[in-house]
Amino acid sequence: MTAPFGRFFLPGPTEVVPEVLAAQQHPMVGHRGEQTEALLGALDAPLRAVFRTANPVVIAAASATGLMEAAIRNGVRRRVLCLVNGAFSERFVHIGVACGKDVLRADLPWGETFEPDVVRRLVSQSGADAVTLVHSETSTGALAPLAEIAQAVRETPDVLLLVDAVTSLGGCPIESDAWGIDFVLTGSQKALALPPGLALGVASARMLERARTLPHRGLYLDLIPYDAQARKRQTPYTPALSLLFALDLQLTRIAAAGGIEARWERHRAMLECTERWVADRGEALGVAFLPKAGRRSWTVSCLTVAGERTGGSVAKRMETRGFVIGAGYGKLRDASIRIGHMGDHTVKELEILLGALEEVLRRG
Ligand SMILES: *Cc1c(COP(=O)(O)O)cnc(C)c1O
Repeated sequence: MTAPFGRFFLPGPTEVVPEVLAAQQHPMVGHRGEQTEALLGALDAPLRAVFRTANPVVIAAASATGLMEAAIRNGVRRRVLCLVNGAFSERFVHIGVACGKDVLRADLPWGETFEPDVVRRLVSQSGADAVTLVHSETSTGALAPLAEIAQAVRETPDVLLLVDAVTSLGGCPIESDAWGIDFVLTGSQKALALPPGLALGVASARMLERARTLPHRGLYLDLIPYDAQARKRQTPYTPALSLLFALDLQLTRIAAAGGIEARWERHRAMLECTERWVADRGEALGVAFLPKAGRRSWTVSCLTVAGERTGGSVAKRMETRGFVIGAGYGKLRDASIRIGHMGDHTVKELEILLGALEEVLRRG
């Protein structure tokens, strides 16, 4: 049943190492008892280190989309500007509409990124009180210049920046506090390399202040109780305990491997490895990066495929060789493939994957 580690390169869920999977077998404990408090206490500092924040990290039993919705419900007073350059950034539009907000969308062709000057202009003209941004657009492999965009957004007073960092947090630099991000969220099954089921996020003081004034935040996704309980090492509702045991071990492993900065570096090396491979062989093999250099995600590479091939056919042929990669996503489904080089993968395993991909592509 179990293939050796290093064959599964979906851009989420990502491959989970056996010992982290096994940590979920910890026996149940009372979710209001001392053991859970101790567990949440143990998670606190290492989670803040990963999010680079002094604020408590909120943990919800939900997929990442749960906290995307929380971002809208708790962060948008009236009008939200959604920066759309792919499928996940478009999801914020759907959530905003579903939550009854006044949604203003700005679109770029898929694969491109919003640049700070454009964002500065859009925000100042929009009349919006919040902006949504996807840092690493998993459908296109494009990485937004988040630090500079955050600075641009803050030039207009009273506008909150809500960031989906689902495939970037844990895989490339994010300074939640230093960059002044009002809400940053991720899911357990991407760069943190855990099984799916946890959504994690951090709200700024500004965000919580805003949330307190908003009616109809809902119940399950109201950030105020999550924040209040997190400060007491509790959760408002039954936490996904098995996943928390896995998270505890994974955070210990991250610290033991040199901390979050070492993890960022490993991901940068995996992007650079992929870039070298495409530069050397891409033209001959009929593949090319969709996003331009300098705007490529450190965790997911989206490569366009030429000719008769489709993303699905390439992914299928990789599977017969024992490797899993992603086809394209949404409207890029046929036109591209996606390699999720994130989580606990290394350059060594990625090189083996790229070797197999080269053989698949050479055969037509
Ligand atoms: C995977 C992903 C999501 C959605 O996550 P779910 O856990 O499926 O809800 C949202 N945004 C981005 C950028 C993603 O990659």
